[in-house]
Amino acid sequence: ETKLQLVERHIRAFPDFPKKGILFRDICPILKDAAALTAVIDLFEEHVRANHQQVDLIVGLDARGFLFGPLLAQRLGVGFVLVRKKGKLPGATVSVSYELEYGKAEAEIQEDAVTPGQKVLLIDDLLATGGTLYAACELMKKQQAEILGCLVVIELKELNGTDKLKPLEVFSLVRY
Ligand code: IMP
Repeated sequence: ETKLQLVERHIRAFPDFPKKGILFRDICPILKDAAALTAVIDLFEEHVRANHQQVDLIVGLDARGFLFGPLLAQRLGVGFVLVRKKGKLPGATVSVSYELEYGKAEAEIQEDAVTPGQKVLLIDDLLATGGTLYAACELMKKQQAEILGCLVVIELKELNGTDKLKPLEVFSLVRY
């Protein structure tokens, strides 16, 4: 079994969650299995090392980007920064509002999280419409970061999130 097959085998689908008509992809089984979680981080690490000479920060999205981001950051020997839902971060923050696949939200980052010119990679569990990652990219632009690309475990192809993020590169492990 390849690392990718191991990862795929640990993703479940739940119909009609959190709303009727949505097929929710659940990554919890990956976290519960040490080998599957290691495989996810291995695959991300291999991709980053092969494609990016220098990375300064991994930027994780609330909330499941926080599960994978710090593990990858440690592998790469770089720091981790949080993009959070509004109202969760202390001190001076920068925020941006955006549309979700199911609702509306506001993303926020600490004003001193990124210094201008830092090379960042964004990470989340799943790309759907791309609205969440797009908002995080807007925050990165406000902070004058150099965005290298986005990493997700899962990409839902029919929602065309990669188009919304163009010309940014999105690397996904599993596509449905
Ligand atoms: P987007 O903004 O439409 O791309 O939605 C992506 C965001 O919503 C990510 O932060 C995901 O964690 C979450 N999300 C949307 N659909 C799913 C799903 O099927 N499983 C898990 N998370 C999802």
